Amino acid sequence: MANFKCPHCHEETLSLKDKYRMGMWFTAYCANCNSRLAAFPWILMLIHFLYVWNVIWFVALVYFNDGYIYLLYMVIVWGVLDLLNVYYVPLVKLKAKKESG
Ligand SMILES: [Zn+2]
Repeated sequence: MANFKCPHCHEETLSLKDKYRMGMWFTAYCANCNSRLAAFPWILMLIHFLYVWNVIWFVALVYFNDGYIYLLYMVIVWGVLDLLNVYYVPLVKLKAKKESG
């Protein structure tokens, strides 16, 4: 089970599932210090730009070259982006959200 460190208290409190969800713009709470955490937004934005580019690029190749092998490449690149997302996007601590109402 891969664990990820909280950027605030540096304890390994975050599961792979938490980290993956943060890669999809969700937030998570540290079980140790209760910090509200998210992936670093500028890097996450770049990764999501690459996801979109990946789909457009390979769908275009399928369309123009009539080769469905490119769909396989798209899936492989998607997997690589997921790995980058999970293992290389740093986390940041967010300010505590004030719930109103
Ligand atoms: Zn923490």
